[in-house]
Amino acid sequence: MPLATPFYLIDETALAANLARIDELRAASGAKCVLALKAFATWSTFAQIAPHMDGSTSSSLYEVQLGREKFGGETHAYSVAYADGEIDAVIANADKIIFNSVNQLERFGDKASHLPIGLRINPGVSHSHFDLADPARPFSRLGEIDLARIESVMDRVSGLMLHCNCENDSVESFSALLDEIEARVGGLLARVDWVSLGGGILFTQPDYPLAVLAARLKAFAEKFGVQVYLEPGNTVVSNTTTLEVSVLDIIDNEKSIAIVDSAVEAHMLDLLVYRESAAIAPDAGPHRYVVAGKSCLAGDVFGEFSFPEPLAVGDRISLLDAGGYTMVKKNWFNGVGMPTIAIRRKNGSIESIRAFDYADYVASLS
Ligand SMILES: *Cc1c(COP(=O)(O)O)cnc(C)c1O
Repeated sequence: MPLATPFYLIDETALAANLARIDELRAASGAKCVLALKAFATWSTFAQIAPHMDGSTSSSLYEVQLGREKFGGETHAYSVAYADGEIDAVIANADKIIFNSVNQLERFGDKASHLPIGLRINPGVSHSHFDLADPARPFSRLGEIDLARIESVMDRVSGLMLHCNCENDSVESFSALLDEIEARVGGLLARVDWVSLGGGILFTQPDYPLAVLAARLKAFAEKFGVQVYLEPGNTVVSNTTTLEVSVLDIIDNEKSIAIVDSAVEAHMLDLLVYRESAAIAPDAGPHRYVVAGKSCLAGDVFGEFSFPEPLAVGDRISLLDAGGYTMVKKNWFNGVGMPTIAIRRKNGSIESIRAFDYADYVASLS
């Protein structure tokens, strides 16, 4: 029996293509790549991903625990702020800990003195199309800015982390940003053993010039005498995952509106957060529909798409790019049925790896 919609469908073959590009970059640049679990934490896929990466990085206690338990390799701990009650568990699960501020380093650094300690610094420059996701936005709290404060702890850190890119698909732009960072904080970079350049580089896209990126990273590593780390999230799983939905009803209100068995806010939240449209392929044909969710939210709209044939109740629609920042954000808004998580194996068979039911909904509240 075919799997009932809605379900997230992760394609092993597409994932393998991204992982091959990660291997290529690691080999050509010498940079280590750790998966940013905040973008993607569907751990059933880690057995496939982990052999092609050096470990994982985290933004909370639970993520560092998951990285240690399910991913393996190097487990990096980072958080915007750790609480007193969680720091011991964070340290117990981490191979490296990166503090977001000098305050946090001074508060917890002694407890972590047996680990390599890093500090996130904020060089005040970035590549981001969204203010919401821009680490260099005005009044940013992401990373230490004050050079004198940074200087005061340089003897306690072996590495620095800078995360300044968001969805950067241009190697020229990345390289120019790195030039700027070198000019601003090169003196600090030359004094540590490792530098993490964060995530946000879309290097698994088929037309991305990997060799140029690799050469730039290698030159950076040699110039400062550091082991470079990257923390890719989204790019590891881009173009690997769809959200499979079915049409439940078709309504006309000046436009034809196909209502599907899913909801944007519950199952593809980032579309609302960043005011973007979902995508389908090929999105061509004479029949135009607004594809909308079944929640009560008036603006529960995935997008407006073209289809070769008129849609009918029961038709399947495949919404693209449901990997990064999607499954990690799913929620029970409106009590809409939670999509199953499924994997399309390399032999083409589709396997359900986790289904959710009413009991999961009940257990999510009390
Ligand atoms: C979000 C984040 C990442 C991952 O970014 P992607 O855009 O998903 O590659 C890596 N490092 C840090 C510090 C982050 O905040």
